[in-house]
This record gives sequence, C-alpha cells and structure tokens, in this order.
Amino acid sequence: MIIMKFGGTSVEDAKAIANVAEIVKRNVANSPVVVSSACAGITNQLLKTASLAQQGNKDAALENVAAIESRHKKIVKDLFEGETAKSLNKHLAACAEELAALVNGVAVLGELTPRSIDAFAAYGERLSSFLLQYYLDKIDVRSVWIDARKIIITDDKFTKAAVQLDLTEFKLRNFVLPKVVTGHVVVTQGFIGATEQGITTTIGRGGSDYSAAIIGALIGADEIQIWTDVDGILTADPSVVKDAKKIKVMSFNEASELAYFGARVLHPDTIMPAVSKNIPVRVLNSKRPSSTGTLIVTKPKIDNRCFVKSIAYKEGVTLIGIVSSRMFLAHGFLEQVFTVFDKHQTTVHTVATSEVSISVTVDDSKNLDSIVRELRAFATVTVAEKKAIICVVGDNLRNVPGVAARVLSSISEININMISQGASEINFSFVVDEDNVDDVVRRLHRELFSDVTALTEIFE
Ligand code: ADP
Ligand code: ASP
Ligand code: MG
Repeated sequence: MIIMKFGGTSVEDAKAIANVAEIVKRNVANSPVVVSSACAGITNQLLKTASLAQQGNKDAALENVAAIESRHKKIVKDLFEGETAKSLNKHLAACAEELAALVNGVAVLGELTPRSIDAFAAYGERLSSFLLQYYLDKIDVRSVWIDARKIIITDDKFTKAAVQLDLTEFKLRNFVLPKVVTGHVVVTQGFIGATEQGITTTIGRGGSDYSAAIIGALIGADEIQIWTDVDGILTADPSVVKDAKKIKVMSFNEASELAYFGARVLHPDTIMPAVSKNIPVRVLNSKRPSSTGTLIVTKPKIDNRCFVKSIAYKEGVTLIGIVSSRMFLAHGFLEQVFTVFDKHQTTVHTVATSEVSISVTVDDSKNLDSIVRELRAFATVTVAEKKAIICVVGDNLRNVPGVAARVLSSISEININMISQGASEINFSFVVDEDNVDDVVRRLHRELFSDVTALTEIFE
C-alpha cells in the first residue's frame, strides 16, 4: 500500500488531472490511497471570498464563487461528456450555491470566525478530488471517493486543527482499509478534516502533505509519495538558484530541518508521522514522473565527501535581542524569557545565548507587542523586523570541520545578525536582512555545491 499525495499544481487543470490519473493507474498494483490538494490557487481564492464577504463586499465575493465554479466546470468540459458531465456540473452548481449561502451569512453578520473560514476553505480539496476520482473511473481505475471529514478527526482549533490520532486510526481502519483490501483506489482530500461532532476543520496551510503522512503512518503504508512540481528536494529553492541540484537520498532529520527552516516543498509536520513508523517518504515530480525523485529514509548511507545537502531560508522573521537588567548572576533568566514566549504560544525558531543576554527569532509576530512589554519588566529588549534565517543542512555537518568558516567567508561583506548551530549539529543557521536572501543563498550555493559532481549517488 502506498500513499500518493498530489499538490495544487499537479491537479491545476484538466490536463494535470488526466496526467495524475494516469500516474495513479500505473501504480494500481501498489494499492494507492490518493490524497489530493485543491487546484492551484483555489484555496487562496476561497479565503479571499470569505474575507470579501466579511467586509460586506458581497458582489465581489459572489463573483469569486462564480469564478471558482467556472474553473472547475472547464475541467469537466475538457474531461467528461454526456450524463457524467451533466451530473458533475450539477454537483458543482450545488457546491457554488452552498458557498453563496456562506457568503450571504458572513456578509449579514459582518463576522468571519475561524470556523467559517474552514467551511469556505474545505471546498477546494473536495472539488478537485471529486473530479479526479470521476476521471479515474473514466479510465477504468476501480476507485472510490471518501470525504476526509469522515476519516480525519481533529480537535476544534479551526484553521490549525490537530489530528486526533486514535480516532483517525479507527476511522481509517474501518472505512479506508476495507476499500483498499477489496482492490479500490481510495481518493480523499488533504488539508481538511472534521471534529468528532462532524464540523469541518482544516489543519493549516500547505497541510495536505501532513494529511498524507498521517494516513500513511496510521494505515501502515509502505511508502508516502509527495507528488509536486519539481524533481524532488533540491539543494536550494529553484526559484532562487536556477541550477539547484536534486538530492537523491536524504535522512528524515535533514528533510525535517529543511522543512522547518522554510523549504516549502515539504510541510514541516510531514516527517514526524513517517518517522514514527519508519515509512520512507518520496518526493516526486508529477510533470516528470519518470524522474526517481528524492527518497527520505531514516539512515541513508553516509558518504564522508558530502557534508551539506541543502540550503533553506525563511523570510518574515523578527529578531529579538534580550539583555537581562541584572548584569550579573542572571539565575533563572532563560526560564523567565521562555515563559513569556510560552504564555503567548509563540514558537522560538533559533536561539543564541550568553549568561545575561539572549537573541531569538520568531516568525509569528501576532503577540509581539505583549511579549516585548512583558520582557521589558526584567530586560532590555530590541526588536528588528524583516529578517531572514538562512539554514545550511547536512547530517555530516557534525563530522566535518570548517564548514562554518566556508559559509561565512563566502558572504563576508554581508551583515550577519545572529549565528546558531542547532543542538542536533546537522544545521548551521544565521540571520540576515530579508533583502539579502537571494544574494546569500546564491553565493552559498556556489560555494558549497559547485564541486559535488563526483557525488553521483547523492546529487543529480
Ligand atoms: P505543492 O502544491 O505540490 O504542495 P509547493 O508549492 O507547496 O507544492 O512546494 C513545491 C515548491 O517548493 C517548488 O515549486 C519550489 O519552488 C519550492 N521549494 C522551496 N525550496 C525547495 C527545495 N529545497 N527543493 C525543492 N523545492 C523547493
Ligand atoms: N490547499 C491547501 C493550501 O493551499 C493545502 C495544500 O495544498 O497542502 O494551503
Ligand atoms: Mg505544498
């Protein structure tokens, strides 16, 4: 059994959906469970619709609903005919009507709750997966559509709900496995779920990867495949470094560190469920299915000539400098500082400390004012916005001396605000001005990856 998750660009239009269906068909012998994202851009459009409704701009919101309906209708027109097309169009019209009712409700109240946001957002995956399953049926793949809200059970933290593993496992075993065992390709949605009471939730932007990983871990899949629009995990973001190389194989630790530090190709939560059951994850390109992708496993073979696998970056970061007001013997200082962040549920990304001072980065500045106010009760605080973390990752970093020196000397003219070597010793990260990101990443890439041609088993 394998999980095949297709991202937004992989199902963006009729051609993409037909292509994905053929990929699934070629994998039928592996008993796939297919997890689909919304067609590219649709989730954003749904969220925009919700916010237009809240602002009382009902006409614009309804225009959006019509645009969403016609984008899917175009797919129907290109892929189906006759009675099937008719019934799919009826389904699309019914969904558009439901969305219009949501728009009206929100516009009347002038209030948009996280619960309503999820009600809007969940339409994207439902529509794309529905069309995909119909097309699988058309090309004679025995398949069944399952509403993720019947199988992915979450808490009620709308827009960022946490999956309840026990309940979800129970549902998967009862509703998904029997279908797989009887030879059906199950098609379901990423990103969405429901509370135990059946109220629609979503698990956070980009969360379809995580849905796939959870399903894979809980039903004991042999492999979790993340199909996207690039050949795999690359040595840097290809939109910044044009000649980034594909990484053939990497460890869970490396992938998780990269995802956490901003490499969008994998959602940061994806790795945990896979690690917990030791299920390999493979990142593949739906536009080039013959490419072997990137394989992520627990312990890939280590080649001592390779010390760095990839460079990630995270923009929109705020750097906070905190110096204890009591100059000496600042006993308990760190605890005091972290208690404040914890109280405001704000995750600290990187940290550098001395006895009386600490620098941290956060990317969630929602509660920044309150945090700074509370820190100022016992420390001098400086705040610098528009920063970025650059992170160099590699399992072998810990064994190879001189990497930090190479990294820093290759960007010697650029001002570095903070340096941090993670305790895992597989990442070396530092903070620069956001404006410098492209330049820094390109220079680092040139320094670290221009002579890896001999490492044919790791890079391509
Ligand atoms: P999907 O819609 O399939 O989930 P995403 O847009 O979320 O796709 O992720 C794929 C994108 O991630 C790529 O198109 C690429 O621009 C970006 N990306 C950033 N860093 C990396 C990296 N190190 N390797 C590969 N892709 C990366
Ligand atoms: N469609 C959702 C989003 O755009 C989830 C995903 O694609 O992973 O965030
Ligand atoms: Mg994604």
